Amino acid sequence: MIFIAHGTETEPLCPLCQSAPGVIKYVYDDIKIISCTSCGLWRTCPRLSASELDEYYEKLHYSPEIEQKGSYENWRDINSDVWSKNVEVVKKVSAGRENVSLLDVGSGHGFFLEQCRAQGLTARGIETSPHAVRYATEQLNLEVRNIPLDRLPAEELYDIITLWGVLEHVPDPLLTMRQVVAHLKPGGVTWVMTPNTNALERFVKGAQYFNFLNKSHLTHFHRKTLKALLEKAGLKNVRRYIHFGGGTRSGLGAAAQYVARRLCLGTELRFIGEK
Ligand SMILES: [Zn+2]
Repeated sequence: MIFIAHGTETEPLCPLCQSAPGVIKYVYDDIKIISCTSCGLWRTCPRLSASELDEYYEKLHYSPEIEQKGSYENWRDINSDVWSKNVEVVKKVSAGRENVSLLDVGSGHGFFLEQCRAQGLTARGIETSPHAVRYATEQLNLEVRNIPLDRLPAEELYDIITLWGVLEHVPDPLLTMRQVVAHLKPGGVTWVMTPNTNALERFVKGAQYFNFLNKSHLTHFHRKTLKALLEKAGLKNVRRYIHFGGGTRSGLGAAAQYVARRLCLGTELRFIGEK
């Protein structure tokens, strides 16, 4: 079955190649997950409107109720290995550069920035959720601004720009990555993590795959489409980064996870690109 998008806010064209038609892969509620017939990039279509998405996202991830339940701290405890691993990687990538400047786009609670600080890196964030910004600045004392990427002053340039779990949420990921490139210094590096559409878990769970159930996930990447989008945005030497561990699994579980990542069947894709 083919779905033809009307090119509207809730039925956007493919963000990578601007085509309208897509093969319907999954359907749940009033949502369809379609695969662009031209370039193979998957997207949610129709999607919620921008204002509905803001409300949905804030309710799901950031609210005083969630904060009071202690969920932020639980989230940090569960993921502290991941954040710490991320910082190690960032340090490796920036080895040899002096006074490295880092911007984390969509910095959320700020736990990655907190780890950057703990490991001696100077890092700032921008985040669109006012509640998350309050938490990051008041509770964690981090430098995070409540502005979207397109309001970042043009003269602000960075050695490293990271986007952890951001590209699947933004309305136009190609535009976002072009804005990222504009804020990178020559030779600067960007680091992107986003869910993987071709994860083993998706083949098992189908429409129930977490990446699809979250209605604020608008674009669904696999290895080829993410690489194509990063290159189209102007990045060079675009490559996948595969790491061992950095999560709750250990021993055999961590080894199996590593194999899945190597085969590109893990739940996340991590890519690096250079300006
Ligand atoms: Zn396309």
